[in-house]
Amino acid sequence: MILTEKLIRDHTLAREEYARLLEASGDPEVRSMLSREAVRLRKLYYGDKVFTRGLIEFTNYCKNNCYYCGIRCQNPHAKRYRLNREEILDCCENGYGLGFRTFVLQGGEDPFFTDERMTEIIREIKTRYPDCALTLSIGERSFESYRRFRVAGADRYLLRHETADEAHYRKLHPENLTLANRKRCLRDLKALGYQVGAGFMVGSPGQTSAELAEDLCFLEELQPEMVGIGPFIPHHETPFAEAEAGSVDLTLFLLSVIRILLPKVLLPATTALGTLDPQGREKGLLAGANVVMPNLSPVKNRKQYDLYDNKICTGEEAAECRECLARRVESVGYRLVTERGDAVS
Ligand code: SAH
Repeated sequence: MILTEKLIRDHTLAREEYARLLEASGDPEVRSMLSREAVRLRKLYYGDKVFTRGLIEFTNYCKNNCYYCGIRCQNPHAKRYRLNREEILDCCENGYGLGFRTFVLQGGEDPFFTDERMTEIIREIKTRYPDCALTLSIGERSFESYRRFRVAGADRYLLRHETADEAHYRKLHPENLTLANRKRCLRDLKALGYQVGAGFMVGSPGQTSAELAEDLCFLEELQPEMVGIGPFIPHHETPFAEAEAGSVDLTLFLLSVIRILLPKVLLPATTALGTLDPQGREKGLLAGANVVMPNLSPVKNRKQYDLYDNKICTGEEAAECRECLARRVESVGYRLVTERGDAVS
């Protein structure tokens, strides 16, 4: 197929071409051509290395009400928790001992974690672990807040744009949230020198190929260092409880396309992918992903960070998670490494 060759040659397509390519994502020949090229590129830049990030889900309080998310503020059944400073530092200590050199602090948008509280935690982690990268994933904030976190030592920021299509964005979010602000945040983060991660859900309710094509164009324009994508998975206490989950195959296809668009990108094989398919993360690595993000949160809180139904890895200790993932990574011919894992330049 001519579009496949064009993408491989130019590392870019026009919006309509992306949409047409996505329509052909079921074609086995197209799939294998793209995944072969994606793997070639990831090996060219990263060899057989898979980077690992220790994910600390430190609060499930959230002031937002995203229609897809299980910890939205209007889910009265969500059992809320937040880790205190000591608990967060304990997660880091445990993770450091296991070989993690990147910590990701992720949470709902919890007003308890003011700029002051966040910068205090960031400073303490960076003082104790100067050889580690610190990633934040705490949603939309002002330029000034992002600046303060950056000065305190945060290195990276994950903020999925969720969808780059205005109309689709409106179907997934309440009115007070806007795509324009989401994009503003991403640009602010870039300007402040963070390594930035954007990304989107695949198969969110009503999503079309044209909308996914828009996501690919947005990634091309933004040039993020990291891209997180995973299938949408319904949560039983959200307005999308009855919606269908996204497709694992389409997610894998998109992972390959993103690797070709952004050859040096840090691309995780996500927990959502592993939730829909027991081999999902391995398949993600074979499609071009080069990062895994096992959980370092305290086991007692794991189940409470309940973004979608049947989330995996909620019962094991961090050490077990790491070993299990190391085996999975090796089973597909890669190697889980202990290093910060910055993007190659
Ligand atoms: N509050 C932070 C972190 C959000 S949770 C922020 O706004 O960035 C991390 C990611 O989980 C979200 O960006 C979203 O893409 C994903 N997510 C949420 N609900 C989901 C669902 N039902 N299915 C799949 N992924 C989901």
